[in-house]
Amino acid sequence: MKALLLRGPNTPFELCEVPDPVAGPGEAVARVFACGSGLTIQHVKAGRRPVHFPRIIGHEITAEIVQVGAGVSSLAVGDGVTAYAYLNCGHCRWCLSSLEPLCENTGYGGGMVGMSCDGGYAEYIKLPAHIFIKLPPELDYKTYPAEIGVITDALATPYKVLRRAQVKAGESLAVFGAGGGVGIHQLMLAKWARARVIAVDVAPEKFDACRKAGADAVVNAAQDNVVEALLDLTHGRGVDVAVDYVSDTSTLEAAAKSLARRGRLVTLGGAGKSFRLSASDLLYKEQAVLGSRYVTRSEILDTFDLVARDEVWPLVTDIRPLAEAEALHERVERGEVIGRAAILIG
Ligand SMILES: [Zn+2]
Repeated sequence: MKALLLRGPNTPFELCEVPDPVAGPGEAVARVFACGSGLTIQHVKAGRRPVHFPRIIGHEITAEIVQVGAGVSSLAVGDGVTAYAYLNCGHCRWCLSSLEPLCENTGYGGGMVGMSCDGGYAEYIKLPAHIFIKLPPELDYKTYPAEIGVITDALATPYKVLRRAQVKAGESLAVFGAGGGVGIHQLMLAKWARARVIAVDVAPEKFDACRKAGADAVVNAAQDNVVEALLDLTHGRGVDVAVDYVSDTSTLEAAAKSLARRGRLVTLGGAGKSFRLSASDLLYKEQAVLGSRYVTRSEILDTFDLVARDEVWPLVTDIRPLAEAEALHERVERGEVIGRAAILIG
């Protein structure tokens, strides 16, 4: 099969022929139609997230099952599928409690599709059968493979954040890193949840897209004092929810300072840096800090329903063939893509 192989950190893709995968017991093989090209996998390509090479990256797939291994009864040839990005075990207490991102058998860093095994930048992908998620028949994955493929991460992740922070209609919600591939979908979902939405970013060229996605107001963090701007926009009360997709020390500290009474700060993405918080603010204002890690399978199914009902639609603005993956990833690295990009394969 054709595959985009990475032979080491910070090297170009090599478009080459590799052996077709064969499904072993408990596994399945799917033909890939499209795979999302987000920053998470660009971190691997750029060498910021270590993996064993050679590696085929990519986890936001739209695919169709072509082969099932011995003992697999949950999938059949011809099923439209996507992938759950974490290689969770499926049988620990967290997996059995529908909290798969906390799986205790995949380690703290977690095993991810396209990182600890080969992923979707190839004509075929082999995974443990339980990692595939069947697409509901309402989703026209053959017409919109790129859009359907990115739902599992770009759209489901911000959907989960709404639940994690218990966002209610009428609350104010600020998104730090709103112009990013997931941030812009957070604006979309916060609007869907009838929150008052504020986009915070350092790239003013993305503000039009932020407004279109649902932002009621934008804050240019490269130019303005973010905390003051968020307090001004909320008549001095602060925001009910701050979602920080940058999660750098400075953005986390600004997000914490911009919170209202009973405000919630959600951290995700970022490089795991430390930051300072006021314990008295947490106490006297009853504020909360929450981590949010990927999504559960049930949150992916909920997000499928939202898309099937046409309440939200993934924003994919740059779709390229395998041969243009290098150029596409250069755009992802430079932060130029509005929404998500994807590689079209099948
Ligand atoms: Zn588990």
